[in-house]
Amino acid sequence: MQYFSTNERSPVVDFRTAVLKGQPDDKGLYFPVEIPKLSPEFLRSFREMANDEIALTVMRPYVGDAVSEADLAAICRETVDIPFPLVRVTDRIYSLELFHGPTLAFKDVGARFMSRCLRQFATEQEKKTLVIVATSGDTGGAVAAGFYGVENVEVAILFPKGRISRVQQLQLTTLGNNITAFEIEGAFDDCQRIAKDLLADEKLSEAAFVTSANSINVGRWLPQQFYYFFACKQFSADETPVISVPSGNFGNICAGLVAAASGLKVKRFIAACNANASVTDFLDTGKFIPHPAIPTLSNAMDVGDPSNFPRFKELFQDNIGQMREGVHSASVSDDVTAETIRDVYRKTGYMLDPHGAVAFRVLEDHLASRPDEAGIFLETAHPVKFDSVENILNKKIDLPAGLSGLFEKPGSALTLPPETKSVRAAILARL
Ligand SMILES: *Cc1c(COP(=O)(O)O)cnc(C)c1O
Repeated sequence: MQYFSTNERSPVVDFRTAVLKGQPDDKGLYFPVEIPKLSPEFLRSFREMANDEIALTVMRPYVGDAVSEADLAAICRETVDIPFPLVRVTDRIYSLELFHGPTLAFKDVGARFMSRCLRQFATEQEKKTLVIVATSGDTGGAVAAGFYGVENVEVAILFPKGRISRVQQLQLTTLGNNITAFEIEGAFDDCQRIAKDLLADEKLSEAAFVTSANSINVGRWLPQQFYYFFACKQFSADETPVISVPSGNFGNICAGLVAAASGLKVKRFIAACNANASVTDFLDTGKFIPHPAIPTLSNAMDVGDPSNFPRFKELFQDNIGQMREGVHSASVSDDVTAETIRDVYRKTGYMLDPHGAVAFRVLEDHLASRPDEAGIFLETAHPVKFDSVENILNKKIDLPAGLSGLFEKPGSALTLPPETKSVRAAILARL
């Protein structure tokens, strides 16, 4: 498969280059030159297939000969080696739980797939690979866990001091080995600025092959298609579900749209947003007006200028009529999010996290006037990751079994001022 840049000013590249570079030089996004069609036989029979077989079939055309068949099969096996249960919450609403991975959020799948691809590509290179990521919480943990112990790869994670949750911080700082956490005395924007500087830094580039593992990388983006196959696999074969996706940068929902374009039957997608509603407003008015992020309870969706918006437009050939037909969108306030977490827990015993709650709320409202439809929302993180849920439910939430050791481990991070040169010196010392 070849990938073009949505800005159309950079050359077409193969999967390997797209993963290694992350972003084309023209600052567009890589997009497959064509979306492959799945065979009718696969679409009839995937419900009986194992998850790793589905993953391999879906990713094969995107990877091409950048990774051998046997290696890709192993990468897929390791990537989806976690449960993805579909849980009934109400009569017509089901939760696809995507929080059973090592960092309790759905970003684990993309990070695992991409890190394993990079491991392959890194061993083919002479220099060490240096992965630099700025995180506002969930991405850092998923990337750290994905690259942990990977040979020939050093990972530097920049997080804003005091701005991420306790569980998120422990997940970044307790791994050690080839993972270094930098606690930056500033905001997420400072972390992002420093990461950008470092990615373009000549001294670092002399010492290592420098890359970013951010969410626009096709190695992270495309494997997110798996969720939609796993959802439909466990749903009734006689019915086509509406699927509601809690959306921030719109990577996840765009992956779902790709799965649908290659043949998966989904009745409609819902882009469920918090107060950061630039795409919701765009679908209403036809005008896209990005804005600075507004902080909310569902903080992983606090994005005022969604990075995958160019892919969203590309998927519909920039035709707003088609976008409105394929995707319903609505925005949910923090008050309603909290009320939804409380109500659903009281009525059903099911505990939502703030991101899943936004998706549940929009889905339930949407289905209210459509008595013949049923739907699935993506529950993208475990409620224990967000201190707010304990406060909303006034109840202590336990870490899932197997993770309870997290609180006993000592975390370690290098605390630095928000300056590129200090972080650069600390990284160079580790290479
Ligand atoms: C990143 C994230 C989202 C948003 O996904 P996008 O692909 O950025 O739209 C939703 N929920 C959780 C828990 C996340 O970490």
